[in-house]
Amino acid sequence: MTGTLSGEGDDHPEDDHPKEACGVFGVCALGLSVAHLTFDGLYALQHRGQESAGMAVSDGETITVDRGMGLVTNVFNEYNLAALDGHLAIGHTRYSTTGSSNVRNAQPVFRGVGQSGFALAHNGNLTNTADLAAMAGMLPGMSTTDSDLVAELIAREFPPEGEDSADGQDLERALIKVLPHLEGAFSFVLMDAQHVIGVRDPNGFRPLCLGKLDSGFVLASETPALDVVGAHFLREVEPGEMIVIDKSGFRSVHPYPSERLNPKLCIFEFVYFARPDSQLYGKEVHGARRRMGELLAEQAPVDADMVMGVPDSGVPAAEGFAKRSGIPYGQGLVKNRYIGRTFIAPSQEMRSRGVRRKLNPLRENITGKRLVVVDDSIVRGTTTRAMVRMLRDSGAREVHLRVSSPPYKWPCFYGIDTGTSSELLAANLSVSEIQDYLDVDSIGYLSIENLVEAIGAPKAGFCTACLTGDYPTQVPVTLSKSVLEGSPVRG
Ligand code: SF4
Repeated sequence: MTGTLSGEGDDHPEDDHPKEACGVFGVCALGLSVAHLTFDGLYALQHRGQESAGMAVSDGETITVDRGMGLVTNVFNEYNLAALDGHLAIGHTRYSTTGSSNVRNAQPVFRGVGQSGFALAHNGNLTNTADLAAMAGMLPGMSTTDSDLVAELIAREFPPEGEDSADGQDLERALIKVLPHLEGAFSFVLMDAQHVIGVRDPNGFRPLCLGKLDSGFVLASETPALDVVGAHFLREVEPGEMIVIDKSGFRSVHPYPSERLNPKLCIFEFVYFARPDSQLYGKEVHGARRRMGELLAEQAPVDADMVMGVPDSGVPAAEGFAKRSGIPYGQGLVKNRYIGRTFIAPSQEMRSRGVRRKLNPLRENITGKRLVVVDDSIVRGTTTRAMVRMLRDSGAREVHLRVSSPPYKWPCFYGIDTGTSSELLAANLSVSEIQDYLDVDSIGYLSIENLVEAIGAPKAGFCTACLTGDYPTQVPVTLSKSVLEGSPVRG
């Protein structure tokens, strides 16, 4: 069945990991000009999406939106940040999970309804977009992303023009009407001219945390974005909770009945997506990754000369493996730190260079050695296979692959782009066939039980669908990221 495993159609052949979701940020801080602060917050969330970036800023009366393609530093500079004046802002870094990668789909999304209009930024992926579009009577092409569709649904719940309510809570009320209809994964930040709102879906698939500044409050996908702006971590936004921030502080609103709440944080946030310095479920991600490596060494021991991690995300687990096994840790590969994700489709020549654009071997450390190579996950296997070949060409005597998560067998419908089942290595091959396909001397995966134990939080609190097939919500049989566009375009 290896014929289904080609990476030819992959836009990013240098990276074999699941593609990140998105990063969101929001701030309301009286007396502060928050555009630079939002820039710093988005920069700390850059790993969650490198295709586009944007922010919306309000001075209390008018919302200004700026967004574009590329990294945060490609989109923003001193000049356009200086033009974004105000004390409220939301921001977004995007990787496309629904909708193709073009500036039309960059976020925040804006709608000019009510007194000031509102803006929305989304991390996650809805699983009932087609139903929602039909419910709203929208034709294909009217909305190209699930985030844009949600903004449209919210806009339709605003009072008619000229009939805005005196309390300024039209956005909050419109959102509460729309939320019960949404299925799937969402951590939203929204704003009108005077409020910033954060809300997590009832499963809490994607993270969202709340922090405090001296003169206000901050919402962010991950805690390092709080750290970088000098905010003090208060707590995670609860699954199904809505936080409304304005000049008088923040309020917690609960738009869902308690029976709909069922916390299922994406376990891959711990395995790969989140920064190692992030705090999730009260645990630091780096420590959890080290423990994954320790348990992997117990579960799949091997006699070898050196343990090395696949940079960067495999390194903490490799350190843990080395510590528990007593095999020395060493660096076998150097990563080009500036590779970033390009939104220019690579040429065939670039594809053929593949993994070499990102990783280069340290021959002195490799030659003649029996290596344990630790990576956090294998999705399609194309990069891993090229890396193994590179290590052997550099003189490695044996290559023993250890993976700090279980085989990735089922596609994700909750905001992570893994491709379809036909593209997932472990969905098509047995473990011994994978060993042959990757040309390694042995292979070992961490069990789901050990993965959960390494994190130290209850298994019931996690989505593990891509590893176990146990989806926490109903998912459509086929859900393509271009479902709203009526075309097979991939971002
Ligand atoms: S299916 Fe996998 S990647 Fe997707 S939310 Fe669940 S655990 Fe995360």
